[in-house]
Amino acid sequence: MNSDCEIDAYVCDVGPVELEQLKAKMNIDLILDGTDNFETRLVINDFAQKYHLPWIYGACVGSYGISYTIIPRETPCLYCLLEAIPLGGATCDTAGIISPTVQLVTSLQLVESLKLLTENRNAMRDTLYTFDLWENSTRELTIQPLKKSDCPCCGDEKTHPFLDVQAMSRSAVLCGRDAVQIRPSHYHQTDLEIVANKLREIGLVVKKNDQLLIIEENRHRIVLFKDGRAIVHGTTDKNEAKSIYHRYLG
Ligand SMILES: [Zn+2]
Repeated sequence: MNSDCEIDAYVCDVGPVELEQLKAKMNIDLILDGTDNFETRLVINDFAQKYHLPWIYGACVGSYGISYTIIPRETPCLYCLLEAIPLGGATCDTAGIISPTVQLVTSLQLVESLKLLTENRNAMRDTLYTFDLWENSTRELTIQPLKKSDCPCCGDEKTHPFLDVQAMSRSAVLCGRDAVQIRPSHYHQTDLEIVANKLREIGLVVKKNDQLLIIEENRHRIVLFKDGRAIVHGTTDKNEAKSIYHRYLG
């Protein structure tokens, strides 16, 4: 709408390497979160801490939404707050979403970005704001006490673990199998029974044994192992495979 705006769009998967490449091309004043998974958000969080860039976290699922502005060296970072954010493993694909939720979260992010970019810092919200439009509830959490001095992302001794390319979730096309393997950034034991029940609730066909579960979805078959590793069959496109992985497994 504003003809004075110039938009440069980049279509890419966002990891530590891509963020460094994008940074080399532009001056960044602010990062607005429009992502759909925590793995990417934690990469952005570390990147923002490393280069002292403000970023505005926003997330929503169902009728529930959340927004929070992170200012490096001032506020707690996303990693400090992880325990305070109700995650629940729900995703828009497993729990659904209604459009007013998206509109409200993005409005909250945008108004804070206007304040920040016009240097009206005093007007900015300094709380973590959550709402549930169906339950008619809103909540503001004072987060300053949650800043952790031993946080690896924003604490006294920062190591920025999520910028470690080696530790990032890795995907690999499996030779001759029309399949991509997705490895999570940190191996963790997955309770296959809980995951299977959640997926069955949304109508997916799930088979399971002690070691793995198999999800049948349209033209893809996803095999999830106990350590969080997954193989997405029916594609050799890494980005498509990662998108399917995050859609069903958060
Ligand atoms: Zn932190």
